[in-house]
Amino acid sequence: MDDVLPCAACGANNRVKAVPPGQVPVCARCGASLPWLHAGTDATFDGDIMAGVPVIVDFWAPWCGPCRVIGPVLEEIARERAGHVRVVKVNVDENPQVPGRYQVQGIPTLLLFRNGQLAGRQVGALPKAALLAWLDRSGEP
Ligand SMILES: [Zn+2]
Repeated sequence: MDDVLPCAACGANNRVKAVPPGQVPVCARCGASLPWLHAGTDATFDGDIMAGVPVIVDFWAPWCGPCRVIGPVLEEIARERAGHVRVVKVNVDENPQVPGRYQVQGIPTLLLFRNGQLAGRQVGALPKAALLAWLDRSGEP
């Protein structure tokens, strides 16, 4: 599935297909790194977490109040850290297999992947500063 990613620098909408390994999507108009938001699914998940940058997976559902708090924060992080992070949102109602595989008991749950390997887990919403600290700290050598 193509993602349509709005550029935070110039506002252009970019239709992004598969991104080559080790690369990040850039704006076709101005060349800026794009905020890399993606809706992950059971079918695509193994590819969704493969990226040359850390991948935050947000397990959420429309009925989950704290998920509605953390969702926009993650979108902000994707914009501010464009080129350095990918955010994959997985709707657990529509995609039950991946949450089962990773023993996701409650939502929101965030998983962090580095090079396709699970590097961190955060259960429950966090303020943005704490979320950024978790991102920077998790799985660092
Ligand atoms: Zn642009």
